[in-house]
Amino acid sequence: ENTTVEVPVACVADGSVTIGGKDVVMMAGPCTVETEKQLMTAAEAVRKAGAVILRGGAFKPSTSPYGFRGLGEKGLQLLAKARHEFGMAVITEVMTPSDVAMVCEYADILQIGTRNMQNYMLLDEIGRTNKPVVLKRGMSATIEEWLLAAEYVLSQGNKNVILCERGIRTFEKATRNTMDISAIPVAKTLSHLPIISDPSQGTGHRHLVGPMTLASIAAGTDALLIEVHPNPDEALKDGAQSLTIQQFNELMPQAQAVAHAI
Ligand code: PEP
Repeated sequence: ENTTVEVPVACVADGSVTIGGKDVVMMAGPCTVETEKQLMTAAEAVRKAGAVILRGGAFKPSTSPYGFRGLGEKGLQLLAKARHEFGMAVITEVMTPSDVAMVCEYADILQIGTRNMQNYMLLDEIGRTNKPVVLKRGMSATIEEWLLAAEYVLSQGNKNVILCERGIRTFEKATRNTMDISAIPVAKTLSHLPIISDPSQGTGHRHLVGPMTLASIAAGTDALLIEVHPNPDEALKDGAQSLTIQQFNELMPQAQAVAHAI
């Protein structure tokens, strides 16, 4: 039987949303929490457009040690404030086993980033909680390796695992990563777990986020994880792949149309 993951969300009538249910769930927000104003503006906008889960990185796995590495616990506090204000659930990344308990206090969904897909100590620690967890596919991982990473979490007792396709490393340079859309139906065939799609990290370019969102829905994704920034050109991180609020507003009805059509 397929697994579904319930996430408590105050702003919806039922008080929760189901990942892996009949509706495609929208998770959106800034790549990284930068300031209270930036986060609140983004949260208010994506909520108004129909997103029910707010994304935002507080602990950032930056490729360069000189890049912005996030606000840490202060970022988590801002996410909690946005959750309170807009009734959204919060998804945010946790990078080390020692931070799991702390991040659990603020987040409704834990995110394991691509770079940590095979951090087995982290997988074990998260497996000992029962928080919903989004497990991103390692950028060079096969689908089998990804599913085995999911087993680490499941085998410790946490059954609330959600897979996330976020693009893989190939020889192609036109995109930051190569979005493996086929991984969505493949994972659905091989696994009982719900799967979501991250077309922002998956492409690295905001003009590709819309087409890959629609393609992911057509391929059967259960949810989307999309980066939206009030002013992407001034973002401290990943501005090139962040949608403007207007672009997100335009994308939402298109996403709903595809979801209804399939
Ligand atoms: C992110 O979503 O903030 C992120 C860093 O993603 P990934 O782990 O897919 O690179």
